[in-house]
Amino acid sequence: MSRAATMLIVEDEPETASLLETYFRAHGYQVFTAASGEEALSMAQAHPIDLIVLDIRLPDIDGFEVFRQLRAHRRTREIPVIFLTEKRERESRLTGLEMGAHDYIPKPFSLQELRARVQNILRRSRAEPAIDGLTGLPGRPLILDYLKEQLGRSDWGALLIGLQGLEAFGERYGFVARDDAIRAVGLLLTGINHESGDAFFLGHLGEGWFILIGSRHQVSAVAPQAIARLKSALPYFYPLQDMEEKPPDLPILRIAAAQAHGTEGPFPDPEAVIRRLLERREALSG
Ligand code: CA
Repeated sequence: MSRAATMLIVEDEPETASLLETYFRAHGYQVFTAASGEEALSMAQAHPIDLIVLDIRLPDIDGFEVFRQLRAHRRTREIPVIFLTEKRERESRLTGLEMGAHDYIPKPFSLQELRARVQNILRRSRAEPAIDGLTGLPGRPLILDYLKEQLGRSDWGALLIGLQGLEAFGERYGFVARDDAIRAVGLLLTGINHESGDAFFLGHLGEGWFILIGSRHQVSAVAPQAIARLKSALPYFYPLQDMEEKPPDLPILRIAAAQAHGTEGPFPDPEAVIRRLLERREALSG
């Protein structure tokens, strides 16, 4: 790193804010703090910020609104954001994913885990922002670009596929195991694409949700195959002991998927396709 990475911590609880500030300063970061949404927005405009840790619950505007406003300004649009969410706010994660947040960490969190995520994101954003650092696949910006090219046609299809239950899985086994599971899904899908003569565009939207884009016919044909393959791989994502003993509180991973086709359009923009897919995805039992 040529200069210290700069982060903005947005948190109104003074104890948490000062803990984070002290911890990241001690690890060589330049740290700004903001105790409200409005303060966060003005600081992000005023300073060059590499990454924002953003609490959802703030006294004025909530973290999602802060995020929306950051995305609306050229200067702050590209800043990676990690949301701090309450455990009970599981649906918060979904909203954040739909908006294109980079990561989430549920409270209470471990400082080490947060720092590892901060480091991962900074590494990714400094290396090649278009490629998802976790899977090596095209990330959200490239997915949106590719989808945009398809929107003028009617014969395209898109399959959204991923793991439901990853959050509880990560809480139980740690985020390294969670990331391993995401990578494994990426590799399986890359293999399937390869067997199809690389007929599909394959990308990772984030949080373990992948998208395959191809002709409508190809996507309809590959969907059951991809679902079956991922389903049969699920047991291998668990530690051996838990898979054998199946404790009653075993976090359950399920494959969920959804399709969208050009004939359902017109879609006003690629984000509308992503929204449709996220709304439509269903966990496939069994
Ligand atoms: Ca708060």
